[in-house]
Amino acid sequence: MEIRIEGLCKTYRSEGRTVAALDHVDLTIPANEIFTLLGPSGCGKTTLLRCIVGLETPDAGEIRIGDDVVWSSERRIAVPTEKRGLGMVFQTYAIWPHMSVFDNIAYPLQVRGAPRARIREKVARALEFVQLRGVERQPATRLSGGQQQRVALARALVAEPRVILFDEPLSNLDAKLREETRKLLRRFLGELGITALYVTHDRVEALALSHTIAVMQAGRVIETGTPQHMYFDARHRYVADFIGRANQFPAIVRNRENDYTLARCGLGTIHCQARDLPEGAEATLCIRPEFIRVTRNEVGPGFNVIEGTIESMEFVGEVYEAEIRVNDERLLARIDPDVQAVPGERVELRLDPAHCLLLSA
Ligand code: ATP
Repeated sequence: MEIRIEGLCKTYRSEGRTVAALDHVDLTIPANEIFTLLGPSGCGKTTLLRCIVGLETPDAGEIRIGDDVVWSSERRIAVPTEKRGLGMVFQTYAIWPHMSVFDNIAYPLQVRGAPRARIREKVARALEFVQLRGVERQPATRLSGGQQQRVALARALVAEPRVILFDEPLSNLDAKLREETRKLLRRFLGELGITALYVTHDRVEALALSHTIAVMQAGRVIETGTPQHMYFDARHRYVADFIGRANQFPAIVRNRENDYTLARCGLGTIHCQARDLPEGAEATLCIRPEFIRVTRNEVGPGFNVIEGTIESMEFVGEVYEAEIRVNDERLLARIDPDVQAVPGERVELRLDPAHCLLLSA
């Protein structure tokens, strides 16, 4: 089910300060996709989620879930949370410790007064789905953090929500469990084909899980796109930087040459992916470390080959991460151990023009 958000605003006032937690947010969350709100702490992700759920009252705007307007300031519509048909999985597992796994999952159905046989059947299906069969009689608190989060997911699913919302559901798990649960979640949600809205500040989680990512900053949605678009082709400097490590240099746009746009920056004149920017415009050249090839004594033909001096190197497994000085600039690159480079050495850097992005913002 699609969610449409138009002109949503929410301002908080506390201790004499006014914070625009949501500043005219327009967003369409397509049906049956995993859609992630990504951004640093305080950018408004949770506020947006809470407004959709109905736990927070916006100041202005409209929220639609499918064909239903669930909130509108202009039309004075405010559908209560329990009538919005949403399921939620929070950061804290929100498992009732005194209840068994079965009772935790059955709870939403018991509250609705569903017949016992129907409850048993639905809980069994949900347990099967989250791969927790066999533990239904155990106290929920005896399960691991990852299993408890799967109980929370099963509980959200038995209620057959139109949309399921996740607020940093993996952030209390350790790194390994987090990765495992993320993979399971991705599979579960893919199989369910349900609309899922996911909130996180973890870029790897967002890249790995989502069909679409919206990056937020200070109450606004800055850019929306597929993980690949956001990583390889973001239009905004802020987004390129937030979603992964990026070298960024102030640049001036020069002429077009064949399939490239040329730009002058501290590294020299660099061939970049073609962009429709006027000559003389100020821009930022952005290139990720993995698209810089570092070699020794191997200057071959081609463009975007520059020289630099290794300032420092750090072995991070598989590759070295190196800081390399080029003229007055410093950039981060990866060096293959086979290159056998050492700090202080001059090296050649080849910047892949297809991954040299010129960002205007
Ligand atoms: P986090 O990842 O830390 O949860 P977030 O991106 O979800 O951050 P929000 O929790 O939505 O951000 O907060 C957005 C802004 O609104 C922040 O500046 C926050 O301090 C402020 N804020 C949120 N809730 C309240 C509140 N109840 N009263 C006052 N200010 C609030």
